[in-house]
Amino acid sequence: MNENQTLIFKRKLELELDSLRNAFLSELKRSNNVFMASLVDRLEAASPTEWLDLAADSISPEHLPRYHRLVELEAALCQIDIGQFGFCCDCEQEIDLDSLQHDPATQRCISCRTKKAS
Ligand SMILES: [Zn+2]
Repeated sequence: MNENQTLIFKRKLELELDSLRNAFLSELKRSNNVFMASLVDRLEAASPTEWLDLAADSISPEHLPRYHRLVELEAALCQIDIGQFGFCCDCEQEIDLDSLQHDPATQRCISCRTKKAS
C-alpha cells in the first residue's frame, strides 16, 4: 500500500473515531445510570489515549458495541503509526484493498476471516 492510500484510510478512521466518540458520549449522557453519567466527565477530561482504559473499567453492557468499534478504530490508527497498517493480525499477509475500503479497521485477511467464521 502506498503512503497516499494509507493517509486516506487514516483520515477515514479519524473521522469515524471522532463521530463515534461523540455518539458514545451523548449515549452516556442520556443514560439513567448515575455512574455512567459521571464517566462522561472523566472521559471528557481524559486524553484520547486514556479513553479506552477508562471506559473499559466502567462500561455497562449496552454500550459495548460502540466501545468495541472504538477499540477497532484505535487499533487501526495505532497500526498506521507503527507502519503495520493493512496487514493481517493472524498471518501477517497484506489485507486486500476491497476489504479495507469497505472497512479500514479490518484486522484480518479474507482467508483468516473465513477460517474464523467456519
Ligand atoms: Zn490472514
